[in-house]
Amino acid sequence: MTEITRDVVIVGAGAAGLTAANELKKAGLSVAVLEARDRVGGRLWTDTIEGAMLEIGGQWISPDQTALIETVADLGLDTFSRYREGDSVYVGPEGTAHRFTGEMFPVSPETEAVIARLTERLDAMVAEIDPDRPWAHEKAAEWDSVSWDAWLRAQTDDDEAVRNLAFATGSAMLTKPTHAISLLESLLMAASAGSYSNLVDADFILDKRVVGGLQQVPLLLAERLGEDVFLNQPVRTLEWSDEGVTAVADGMTVRARQAILALAPVLYSRISFVPALPRLQHQMHQHLSMGFVIKVHAVYETPFWREKGLSGTAFSPYELSHEAYDNSNHGEERGTLVGFVSDLNADGVFELSADERKQRILTSLSHYYGPEALDPVVYYESDWGSEEWTRGAYAASFDLGGLSRYGKHLRSAVGPIHFACSDLAGAGYQHVDGAIRMGRLVAAQIVDEVRA
Ligand code: FAD
Repeated sequence: MTEITRDVVIVGAGAAGLTAANELKKAGLSVAVLEARDRVGGRLWTDTIEGAMLEIGGQWISPDQTALIETVADLGLDTFSRYREGDSVYVGPEGTAHRFTGEMFPVSPETEAVIARLTERLDAMVAEIDPDRPWAHEKAAEWDSVSWDAWLRAQTDDDEAVRNLAFATGSAMLTKPTHAISLLESLLMAASAGSYSNLVDADFILDKRVVGGLQQVPLLLAERLGEDVFLNQPVRTLEWSDEGVTAVADGMTVRARQAILALAPVLYSRISFVPALPRLQHQMHQHLSMGFVIKVHAVYETPFWREKGLSGTAFSPYELSHEAYDNSNHGEERGTLVGFVSDLNADGVFELSADERKQRILTSLSHYYGPEALDPVVYYESDWGSEEWTRGAYAASFDLGGLSRYGKHLRSAVGPIHFACSDLAGAGYQHVDGAIRMGRLVAAQIVDEVRA
């Protein structure tokens, strides 16, 4: 068993942990990053499957994500825009595909008026929320006690309007059933992107990608750390006291003054803390759980939808794949579609055989793009629910009432143990941008403590 000593031990080589490690190193502190997997990046994973380069995890960057944009520029990476020429497609309750342009779905004038009215109301509510402190709003407890679905249904009895409003923060973002998340969580999700309108604007929220894949961010951050990153080292035990910490992984032990837990909060309980974490953390961490979404890639010889004048952007709260986009790589002749199957729909298709699941998902894509979608040359489902060191996608959120009850304690250190992860972020919540912000924040706190 190798034993080393550092100023700070970082558990997890995702965007949060690697950002923190680089910031600490820049400030002159020594670090060791222990990573459970045989690769860095965590939920950022660019891989080649049957000859197709696919973004298995996170990929898009929106203009508000300034921490990620700065990091991408600092690492010298190039970006490109998602293909968006032509019409989008919406499948309505009757199952018919309608082409449209702009942000408003082609619904009846009555439904459109309800969506517009509630969007305005939601934007006003979101404007009152500080994404870094949603629990501080005077109505936080009230808004956290009502489900997102129940609140919307109390505003209107127009089912199509409710479904369209609900899925932007539900299936598309928190990836939990809308009865399982609170209005406050939903407002936080929107506030973290600047406004509810930003969140539903695909051209804003799914703006840019990195040429060659977003996993280059953690790969290059890890490269800067050189031999301070240790793979295949799941941390099993963390001993801690006012004197410092000892992290015991499978093949090594790191003694340090401070620790950063840079892993998804649902995994904290995989580590044996000696002594145990305080009561508050034991309770709080149990109220956070992962959402669940399958990201599906289908690669075709050509981007056939473009020839039909379609952008590839498609939505429907009635479809198995509630949203889908053109996800062709930069400079590639083949065409790639990406679709998402979320929460209850994801549970449902995982009860089917792999062949049946593929058929059902491709059939859903064909409702948007036509029968050509049924026959891809490469088909791949990201299944983060089966990943031992993640256990869901995209990220963790509180159950009903948890955010107002525990939120203010989420980022508080426990003695020498600090917490950093996209799932704890305010601005950039559940996104790579939030992971980078949390990594920077925790590193700054540690540097301040060391210098005090
Ligand atoms: P993670 O990436 O989860 O990193 C934590 C690391 O800790 C992992 O490497 C894990 O292996 C390691 N670890 C866990 N336990 C231990 C242990 N005991 N010991 C040692 N190591 C451990 N975000 C966007 O901005 N844009 C997108 O388009 C986008 N799309 C997404 C699509 C999918 C399918 C998924 C899954 C996520 C997506 N996200 C997206 C979210 C984004 O990828 C994450 O929010 C972000 O990457 C999380 O970074 P992190 O460092 O906080 O956590």
